Amino acid sequence: MDLFNFIKQNVDITSVIGEYTSLKKAGSLYWKGRCPFHHENTPSFSVSPHKNIFYCFGCHENGDVINFIEKIEHLSAFEAAQHLAERFNLEIPKEVQSSTMHHAVDKSHYRLCHIVAQWCNDMLLKSPQAVQYIKNRSISPATSGQFILGFFPSGPRGIEQLLAYVSNQGFSSRNLIEEHIIFQGNNGLYSPFEDRIIFPIKDHLGQTCGFGGRIFLPHDTRPKYYNSMETAHFKKGKLLFGFDLAKQEIHKQKSAFLVEGYTDCIAMHQHGFKNVVATLGTACSPEHLQQLAKHAQTMYLLYDADAAGKQAILRLTSSCWQLDLDLKVITLPAGQDPASLLEQGKSLTPYVTSAIDIFSFFLQARGDGFGQESMKSQMTTIQELFELISQVSDSLKQNILLMKTAETLQIPLEIIKKEYTNRHAITQKNNKADTELSSNQLNGNEPEKITHDKLEEQIVASIIHDPSLLTEQYETLLLACLSQNALKIVKKIIDYKKTHGSLSVENMSDVLNAQEIEQTKGLLFTIESANIQLTFENLMLQFQKKYWKSIASHIKMKMAQAKKDNDLEEIQRLMDVFEKLKLELCKKGRL
Ligand SMILES: [Zn+2]
Repeated sequence: MDLFNFIKQNVDITSVIGEYTSLKKAGSLYWKGRCPFHHENTPSFSVSPHKNIFYCFGCHENGDVINFIEKIEHLSAFEAAQHLAERFNLEIPKEVQSSTMHHAVDKSHYRLCHIVAQWCNDMLLKSPQAVQYIKNRSISPATSGQFILGFFPSGPRGIEQLLAYVSNQGFSSRNLIEEHIIFQGNNGLYSPFEDRIIFPIKDHLGQTCGFGGRIFLPHDTRPKYYNSMETAHFKKGKLLFGFDLAKQEIHKQKSAFLVEGYTDCIAMHQHGFKNVVATLGTACSPEHLQQLAKHAQTMYLLYDADAAGKQAILRLTSSCWQLDLDLKVITLPAGQDPASLLEQGKSLTPYVTSAIDIFSFFLQARGDGFGQESMKSQMTTIQELFELISQVSDSLKQNILLMKTAETLQIPLEIIKKEYTNRHAITQKNNKADTELSSNQLNGNEPEKITHDKLEEQIVASIIHDPSLLTEQYETLLLACLSQNALKIVKKIIDYKKTHGSLSVENMSDVLNAQEIEQTKGLLFTIESANIQLTFENLMLQFQKKYWKSIASHIKMKMAQAKKDNDLEEIQRLMDVFEKLKLELCKKGRL
């Protein structure tokens, strides 16, 4: 057995996925929840423990438990398997281990970073000044240990000690230079981390991948922070400080706090806010938000209330709306950050409870003094807001946002709506077309063929599940009316049955290509095997009713062709089919 099969057999897919989204049992065969890969309000994500697969009807992500971890944690298949083995403490049998040796990933980068972090942590305790700094920041020894805070001593002696420490564990000065931890200067080896407090930075899996170093000695005039250089393992635009520790709590509370500094994050952690992360001195990127949005519905921003901080928050607005992430802004007193408030023994809770949503914040920031502004700048503000609102896909949400705009800017709602409609006529037109379509369907005037149809999907799924359901009579019916994609699949099944006699789910891969199997895999979730015959008959009856007109015209067309060809046998067959279909519909009183 290889590692992948071993993992799949020993790990329960519902408990793995359950750590990323809440799953509820739906029917006897599968579990349902909100998709962790795209944002949705109604659950369309299914997991089948029997088939050991997942499928999302919204974004069509699918696969087995290893694919799930690959996709959600951005790992290779082998790394995903390794991660699951570690996560579930699986003892991997020797023969399984040796079969996958060639996949082994080079983890030496993380190992070296981890060793350097430990060394810096040892050095911290040997520096009274560094210990005093940690104490002054009110960071407890336990918290300092949890984040493995450290100190990088200065001078050649420090570098020598580090070299001795890493060489004991199989690394050399060359490795440290390659990882940009030390550098070769004119006067020997040195490190930009010297005389700094060291904050080891871990990735989302808890692997140490780089460092942040902060000056703390009086009269140190260097830049306040020095962070590791960008490498393949260390990307500031993707990493969030503290994410490995906060991830589970963020998932549990469905919310996250985003702060600007390492010490803010650490201080909040120490004071019981376990769902806190910090960016690495960079702006919050769409990638950061995407990671958080996988676990959280609400994000609390604790940024400096200065002008730069305000700008940073405004820039995040549209990204968050697109991800369906509720942004709430917490405003702290001027000149304060979370760490400084907590150091003074003050509580953050009142500020958290008075957090405002990002839209109100935007309007406050833009709308302050709106009445006194010139007409031109008023128009610019409104235009900016409209731009943002137009990026929201949900029309109800758009309307709510327009209402808020009207309220805050004190402009009558009708005027705001009219202006918005004029400026975004195209979006509006599209929405109108959608509404007209659905009201036509409700009135029974549905178009003859619609490409994406629930009924059709269920019929195809049933046939794949049990190809024997497909009788000749149904064949004619489906061939006449199915839409392109479904038709292609059904045709293949019919052809196969003609040449091979029978078909089972197991040999579906002989019939359908990989892409078609991908397309239809999820459909299997929609059907329960019990009563499939009865369900199928009902589905077909609905289908017949819905498409009766086009069925009739299709059969007539075929009939005309058969008459032209003088094919009496075909004429007879078509008449039989037509009669049977009509009879069936009459019998059930539907025609
Ligand atoms: Zn999805």
